[in-house]
Amino acid sequence: MDPSSARANSGGLFSGKTELQPLKEKRICLVDKKHKKKLKRTAKKKKEKAASQEATAKLKKQMNMFDRLPNNCSSCGKNFPKTQEAHMTWQVVVREQKQQVRLFCPECQKQAKEIVENQNEV
Ligand SMILES: [Zn+2]
Repeated sequence: MDPSSARANSGGLFSGKTELQPLKEKRICLVDKKHKKKLKRTAKKKKEKAASQEATAKLKKQMNMFDRLPNNCSSCGKNFPKTQEAHMTWQVVVREQKQQVRLFCPECQKQAKEIVENQNEV
């Protein structure tokens, strides 16, 4: 047990840290940080803009493809009902290289899936 040395240790640490921080240096540091943040924000904005432009271009391309959307199932010829439910259940297959859009009704999707599953089994 040596209470005097313990007190000297903590006391030394305290006074040393608080007094050795000049205000000037602290301010420079803050400005630098702010500047960095600003730079980062600008970079992010640039990136976001590029991303959104890319998304728009992609969407435009896809819209063009959707103009080619068939009115019926590419497999069985069933008429494609333009309802939200149909949009959710029918499958659109886009072949960009061939500029081809194919549409598959839920039944044909099921059949195709079964064929693939059967092929996998063999
Ligand atoms: Zn079909």
